[in-house]
Amino acid sequence: MDISYILNEFAEERENYFNAVSPPIMQTSNFVFDTVEDMRKAFADEYSTYLYSRGRNPTVDILRKKLAALDGAEDCLVFGSGAAAIFASVLANVKMGDHIVSVDQPYSWAQKMFNDILPRFGVTTTYIDGTAIANFERAILPNTTVIYLESPNSWDYALQDLKAVADLARAAGIVTIIDNSYCTPLYQRPIEYGIDLVMQTATKYISGHSDTLGGVLSGSKEMIERIFNSEYMNIGSGIQPFNAWLLIRGLRTLPARLDRISASTIKVVDYLKRHPKVESVIFPFDETFPQYALAKKQMSGACGLLTFIIKAETIARVEKFCEDLQHIFMAVSWGGHESLIIPKCSGIQPAEFNASNATHRMLRLYVGLEDPDYLIKDLEQAFAKMM
Ligand SMILES: *Cc1c(COP(=O)(O)O)cnc(C)c1O
Repeated sequence: MDISYILNEFAEERENYFNAVSPPIMQTSNFVFDTVEDMRKAFADEYSTYLYSRGRNPTVDILRKKLAALDGAEDCLVFGSGAAAIFASVLANVKMGDHIVSVDQPYSWAQKMFNDILPRFGVTTTYIDGTAIANFERAILPNTTVIYLESPNSWDYALQDLKAVADLARAAGIVTIIDNSYCTPLYQRPIEYGIDLVMQTATKYISGHSDTLGGVLSGSKEMIERIFNSEYMNIGSGIQPFNAWLLIRGLRTLPARLDRISASTIKVVDYLKRHPKVESVIFPFDETFPQYALAKKQMSGACGLLTFIIKAETIARVEKFCEDLQHIFMAVSWGGHESLIIPKCSGIQPAEFNASNATHRMLRLYVGLEDPDYLIKDLEQAFAKMM
């Protein structure tokens, strides 16, 4: 299926709503039945019917079909946030006594789940450096049921060889889950490499406008139906119709936004690499990136998020640089229209700052839809004030 077809036409039944170009928001909690038999059938198989919007909803279904098609998956579920999608994907594939192998430093709320929640139910996690396949081989135990990936990571962009990990996991009967938020299905399609469940936060690029949260989980019909009938319905964290509608709207412009951001990101990376106050720039599509060859092999694009290490002797200098930015906002998240910065040192106490630790001088920049020269000018004036 062409991506343009998926985004503009697929799964939209316009003849059912006055040929409106934009689909209606089915803001309803429940659906009416004419016969007891129809109701009985719906109770028996909610995955296939409209009964109650905690399960299925027509506006959400349009979004589900488009997102599954983008991932090349049989089906998907859309949650109220990416964190909910992560939680459901893992919860559905572990029981007491099971073991998980996760890449180092996955998304912070995935770490919370592995470190704080799952151990209460006897599920343990081993973190590994996912850049070498041998580390997965060594970490797998007889009770390992899940391998959790995030490629690229959203701070240091560390990658995993998706095909190699999928082959290893398949042979051992282990379910693979990936956080594919950095790439979106436009730039990386993990199911084609044999990954079982693909998660992405829709809050970032799918929404694109910093106005809704959402999370996507794609996989086989068998797996998605099982999660629908259990974790999805039970946690009750499905996306609301209006937010689904916002994400459908976001999808219309996704390729155009990613094209624009890709072009701007290259300019910003080039600028930062040449700046005397910048020690290094970490970006997966830069030739100096340690896994550049793998990035080029399994990703068709990279954009927006990059990390740079600033030269500074004190935490005050790092903080001043961030606070001096006039147009690049200091905020969490990314994927919207607005450029953003987060200093890694916001996660530590000032007294812990150690200038010889490059991690403490890391700044994560998200390049949004603004004119790249406007962003570079903003960086330039903030650097100038450091001198
Ligand atoms: C934001 C983010 C998430 C979580 O998504 P929410 O929609 O905020 O719950 C997961 N993974 C990555 C890499 C993210 O950046």
